[in-house]
Amino acid sequence: MPLVEVRVPALDRGFLFGDSVYEVIRVYRGRPFLFEEHLARLRRSLEAIRLPYTDLEGLRQRVLQVIGEYQFREAIIYIQITRGADYTRHHVFPQRIEPLEFFYVEEFHDDLEPMRQQGVRVITHPDLRWKRCDIKSTNLLPNVLAAQAAREAGAYEALLYLPDGTLLEGSRTSCFGVLAGKLLTAPTTPSILPGITRALVLRLAREQGIAVEERVLRLADLPQVAELFLTGTTSEILPIVQVDGQIIGEGKPGPITRRLQEAYRRLVQSL
Ligand code: PLP
Repeated sequence: MPLVEVRVPALDRGFLFGDSVYEVIRVYRGRPFLFEEHLARLRRSLEAIRLPYTDLEGLRQRVLQVIGEYQFREAIIYIQITRGADYTRHHVFPQRIEPLEFFYVEEFHDDLEPMRQQGVRVITHPDLRWKRCDIKSTNLLPNVLAAQAAREAGAYEALLYLPDGTLLEGSRTSCFGVLAGKLLTAPTTPSILPGITRALVLRLAREQGIAVEERVLRLADLPQVAELFLTGTTSEILPIVQVDGQIIGEGKPGPITRRLQEAYRRLVQSL
């Protein structure tokens, strides 16, 4: 049905409590990219919040059917599973309740290519999130507020940092930096979302013989960082050229970022 006609019950726990998890997947030329990896992360998120939805194989088929039937080419798949609706509002899991499956596929007009070429500006922002950021839950208010702060500062993204200056990731992206010739990104702890694009970029970097280490960058490292970039399902690999108005490296996308962008593009084209 048309997306604007979809209705969710007011007592749905996703709506009332944020009791739900989600995924966003990119479709290139009619094919969902890294679909199995996204479904595996969805399974982990469901298990982490003890949401007893098990029909991931059925979901996979239904999504593929929609893409085929409506001949989507360049698109985004959004999937959300909530714990469902009960007859009244109370915090504990209801005894008998059916999870709610919601997904849509939407044409994607990629207007980020100029930014992938020229790089973007970002701001830093305190990380106001909880202690299980590895779960892709729909509780995104801290992410929303950080993204809005970036928008109001004329920046593309907000890099989230802890009180000790540890840089973790963006409001909707993972973050990589090149320091002393090494490609660094935060390790997969409960403090970050294990980005699917992050994992792919780590793989591509190793294949390219680039020295890689899963180690956090700090705010204090930024003046020494030679390159910095964001990764994400729709962002792909986005060079950062300024943080809080300070120039990064030479103020333009660096050579390692470029090599990884090319490797990413080749992989997508080979599919
Ligand atoms: N980090 C956060 C907080 C995110 O919300 C996202 C994507 O939504 C990412 C990183 C990037 O993850 P992926 O590469 O799986 O899109």
